[in-house]
Amino acid sequence: MSADTRPDTQPQPEAQPRPDAQPRPEPQLRPDGTLRHLLTLESLPRDLIERLLDRAESLVRPAGAPPPTSTELEGVTVANLFTEPSTRTRVSFELAAKRLGAQVVNLEVQLSSRVKGESMLDTIYTLEALYVDVFVIRDAEAGVPGLVAESVHPHVSVLSAGEAHLAHPTQGLLDALTVRQRKPHFGSLAIAMVGDVRHSRVARSAYHVFRALGAGEIRIVAPPAYMPEAAEFGGCTRHTTLAKGLKDADVVMMLRIQKERMSQASLPDADRYFAKYGLTPERLALAKPDAIVMHPQPMNRGIEIASDVADGPQSVIRDQVRNGVAVRMAVLSAVCAGRGSRAAVDRPGGGLTRS
Ligand code: ASP
Repeated sequence: MSADTRPDTQPQPEAQPRPDAQPRPEPQLRPDGTLRHLLTLESLPRDLIERLLDRAESLVRPAGAPPPTSTELEGVTVANLFTEPSTRTRVSFELAAKRLGAQVVNLEVQLSSRVKGESMLDTIYTLEALYVDVFVIRDAEAGVPGLVAESVHPHVSVLSAGEAHLAHPTQGLLDALTVRQRKPHFGSLAIAMVGDVRHSRVARSAYHVFRALGAGEIRIVAPPAYMPEAAEFGGCTRHTTLAKGLKDADVVMMLRIQKERMSQASLPDADRYFAKYGLTPERLALAKPDAIVMHPQPMNRGIEIASDVADGPQSVIRDQVRNGVAVRMAVLSAVCAGRGSRAAVDRPGGGLTRS
């Protein structure tokens, strides 16, 4: 490795399971191994991730073509509960559910954080009584999707649409799908995640899925203040200099500065940040010539990324958005497998009981 590309730190060693440790059952799966909840990608088996990506790929259509629709989830009710603002993710979940024939309710819940846990469960129990089958939950507080998943009836599923700074599993899947469409051989890829990694749930879910798919090298590129704790992101190389982190990268994933998760004092000066960490065409030229550029959005143009790059030929940012609906259809279809047809029996004229 030349001095120019040497990382600022060596990859962190990874924790190894104790030799006598028994494998614990994956709590997101049903006893038969099918997906029930999607809260994190951290522990999902690679084959399940690949099946979700394959299914999502089959649901992607070129721009301008009509989107696929089906009645697979007819009779299923999906509730979107978002306590943090969202445009793309909420609309994407809503379209995904509707295109599979589900009924959808959207709730923007504003709750004080002191009573949030309890109030959220009251809302959940009310919606369960109204026959909601799938809860899609975004919350700024850690632990809320997991708490709901532990509290609902066995036939109900919970999908995280963003949990604090910790997890955004469907974003991780759509990012993996976007990379796989252009660069299917993960083992030979150098992936650079650039920006506010410390506060980013997108970076954490991307890390989990890229690791599961065997990415050759994952680099974290961030100012010291936005570097995650040393115990996190095991196996990644760390760079505080953008030029080093971008050198010969195949994938450049830019991250938004998560102002809402910072104190006023730690907010960066926009011009200074762009001068050191903004992705310009000149800096992108340090990556491989066919490198792709990603951003989960919303983008701060002129702070994290120059418009020329965001709208340029190497950008796959719109593909990410398009893939988001396909991924969410695949996940909804997986957690509801068989439920749509069962629910269809309950339509007028059918039996009235629900299992
Ligand atoms: N939309 C993504 C999220 O919910 C990315 C971002 O907001 O920066 O985390």
